[in-house]
Amino acid sequence: MKHQYTREYALQLDEQDPLAQYRHEFYINKSTIYLDGNSLGLLSKRAEATIQEIIDAWKTYGIDGWTEGANPWFYLSEKLGEQMAPLVGATPAEVIVTGSTTVNLHQLLSTFYRPTEKKAKILADELNFPSDIYAIKSQLNMRGLDPEKYLVQVKSEDGYRLEEDDIIAKMTEDISLIVLPSVLYRSGQILNMKRITEEAHKRNILVAFDLCHSIGSIPPELSKWDVDFAFWCNYKHLNGGPGATGGMFVNQRHFGNHPGLAGWFGSRKDKQFDMDHEMSVDNAIGAFQIGTPNILSMAPLVGALSMFNEVGMTHIRNKSLQLTSYFMDLIRHELKNEGFALRNPLDDTRAGHILLQHKEAARICKALKVEGVIPDYRSPDGIRLAPVALYNTFEDVWNTVQILKTIMEEKKYKKYDNKRGVVA
Ligand SMILES: *Cc1c(COP(=O)(O)O)cnc(C)c1O
Repeated sequence: MKHQYTREYALQLDEQDPLAQYRHEFYINKSTIYLDGNSLGLLSKRAEATIQEIIDAWKTYGIDGWTEGANPWFYLSEKLGEQMAPLVGATPAEVIVTGSTTVNLHQLLSTFYRPTEKKAKILADELNFPSDIYAIKSQLNMRGLDPEKYLVQVKSEDGYRLEEDDIIAKMTEDISLIVLPSVLYRSGQILNMKRITEEAHKRNILVAFDLCHSIGSIPPELSKWDVDFAFWCNYKHLNGGPGATGGMFVNQRHFGNHPGLAGWFGSRKDKQFDMDHEMSVDNAIGAFQIGTPNILSMAPLVGALSMFNEVGMTHIRNKSLQLTSYFMDLIRHELKNEGFALRNPLDDTRAGHILLQHKEAARICKALKVEGVIPDYRSPDGIRLAPVALYNTFEDVWNTVQILKTIMEEKKYKKYDNKRGVVA
């Protein structure tokens, strides 16, 4: 083990990696080390091929593409949902590819948030992604309920972690529904969805999880844990492309409810084209769709998903844990006195990225980019680094730490301002 800090050791890990061949299926810019797959995953050749297939179907069939070709558009949302179900531990009937993270949360709240006099509040947390909180507040406002009073946010003691006991302590009688992330987008902490769901159900509270940072990276068991709802985007670890259509899980127990945001794609498929003004709501996950699906934004998912189903989430999760564990070892060894603190969970409750805190984080990120490493800056002082199982290597991790070491030792970051850019 004395060689574990050498490049040779990294190369040896790559040689033993059973997923190594998948890297060659992606478009990887040879002069960069891409560590931002938790914000936007890279394009694979399979995804590119299925974009072309859908374009060809449009060319060949015109309107008949809805029912003809390899992936008839009329059924594509359900078909992709079936293929995505194993990634979230759901039955195929409970998942659909539709909308976007935020729109799907709006749909779920519109449908299932039914405040009563005694149970009217929504429980969330203070570390969640802002879009989720905006959606919850707007849903409350539309119902004439003051978010100051009706939105309860679990506090974090250190700004990085949430304690499950604190969440459970907030599950009081007046809570109607809970919205939490499966993984905190900054620190990468995985919340115990099974325990949270059990505790919520004991108190007659519904639970929805935002899976944006876990889909394609860590496998939950939504059906087995009896989670009520989940929603997510498909452009991060799932590599579905910028603005890829999102995903939604509804426990089949809740099928048959009239959608809060109704539209004709929520109709029974055999009735939809009757064009009746009385909606025949689909008694299935399809009910929660709204209008015509964004076929072109679903096309890359056909190819991207085939890779995940071929490899299986267990292998992906194993390699991801190995990559992040190796990353942390190297950081502790090589960057000891440089003022960095690891803010992600160090044990297996960490998801697919690590979070390095440093007071000069914004300018260190700029220096990393100039040196060919693509990190993800998160205000005010966080550097997220995501080594992705399907396309990053142990050598990528080794090189990154060496580059970071040089940036710190030679104070190269001092050339840049300590301010963020427009996107990250
Ligand atoms: C990325 C992300 C979103 C983004 O929502 P969109 O509607 O897809 O733009 C929302 N929530 C979380 C936790 C995220 O990580």
